[in-house]
Amino acid sequence: MFEALSERFESAWKTLRGQDKISDANIKEALREVRRALLEADVSLNVVKDFVADVQEKAQGAEVVAGVAPDQQFIKIVYDELVALMGDANEPLADADSKPTVVLMAGLQGTGKTTASAKLALHLRKQERSAMLVATDVYRPAAVDQLITLGKQIDVPVFEMGTDANPVDIAKAGIAKAKADGIDTVIVDTAGRLQIDQDMMVELENVKTAISPNEVLLVVDAMTGQEAATLTQTFHDQIGITGAILTKMDGDARGGAALSIRQISGKPIKFIGVGEKVEALQPFYPDRMASRILGMGDVLTLVEKAQEEVDIADAEQLQAKILEARFDFNDFLKQTRLMKNMGSLTGIMKLIPGMSNKLSADQLQQGEKQLRRCEAMISSMTKQEREDPDLLANSPSRRRRIARGAGYGDKDVSKLVSDFQKMRSMMQQMGQGGMPGMGGMPGM
Ligand code: GDP
Repeated sequence: MFEALSERFESAWKTLRGQDKISDANIKEALREVRRALLEADVSLNVVKDFVADVQEKAQGAEVVAGVAPDQQFIKIVYDELVALMGDANEPLADADSKPTVVLMAGLQGTGKTTASAKLALHLRKQERSAMLVATDVYRPAAVDQLITLGKQIDVPVFEMGTDANPVDIAKAGIAKAKADGIDTVIVDTAGRLQIDQDMMVELENVKTAISPNEVLLVVDAMTGQEAATLTQTFHDQIGITGAILTKMDGDARGGAALSIRQISGKPIKFIGVGEKVEALQPFYPDRMASRILGMGDVLTLVEKAQEEVDIADAEQLQAKILEARFDFNDFLKQTRLMKNMGSLTGIMKLIPGMSNKLSADQLQQGEKQLRRCEAMISSMTKQEREDPDLLANSPSRRRRIARGAGYGDKDVSKLVSDFQKMRSMMQQMGQGGMPGMGGMPGM
């Protein structure tokens, strides 16, 4: 995801590298690259036009800041505009005063609506909010069964009345049942069609009128690019949505949908789907997405993901160590084991700054292998050496001993130590609020 976009942006920065300051003349080429980048990512044309105009205005008005190169300054402007385009902050799911909170799911067939309904239910359960799923897709018996199966999997009740009842009646009865059972949030899954279809719209509108939902979430497939823009427009005009869930963000979509939805509907993306599994749902954070789009990785998501896996005290300690550059080989080992619990290295690497657009599947496999080697080498270190990586930097004999113990060459150990030190200084830089390679830019 976003690899092509990140690479294109990279060429935009390049046009400004080595310049003294941003000027009308040198900004032209950079803006052209930004425009090209967005169009290639399938961002809707109107959105691109507005975006480029905003960036141009900001860039032309930008004061020269001492110590900040024009390309860095330009990156910061584009970053800020991307964040603004996607809505600044994360907007959580409604939590109505009068229970249950009602969420109506809308979208085309195959976008991942049913899966997203279950993912959302699980997400709520993790926040101690009870959920109930309601199956109103009466056209496909398989859809009802799918929801029942998913419900069992995540231990969330599913309300259904088969395929003979009317969707409006099912939705109303489902909500009444949830109310009686003291359920916090009802998620109403609806029927989709392969394309926008008037019957579907009318039915959706009838259901909406009957149940007055707190949220109408449009489920959009990130792989659909430009079409996502049209879809959002149509659903918003005809039904009125309160937000969107962007699914299949784990695929190789070009990413345009993420940038178009807010601008077109004025409504935020609230969640993204990042896999087929029911756990694969994440709240949408515009700032994190922007840094991911710009190829800066997504350290915050990584930290948060890690926090779900370890106990909080542990994670806080780790964060403090990163900030103070006290991160040692023990922490590294802990992190490595944590990564294994968190899932594949591929998934994790995409979140690390500078890695996102540089690694192929092959390289990632190499990476997994490399991690195992690191583990073996760290296992051969003494307690003191693990706690004080600098000891190793200064002692060839220690490195030789470790190499022999782990069954690798001296060079492998030297490389581990120097890579580790580089990583540590990068982390320290980020901890102090900068981004790697971006100097100490104010506000970033
Ligand atoms: P619906 O017709 O809109 O209800 O779509 P489904 O929920 O049945 O999903 C359609 C297909 O997309 C299924 O094969 C899902 O496993 C898959 N899917 C849904 N969400 C995601 C996602 O975030 N990532 C990936 N890779 N696949 C997804």
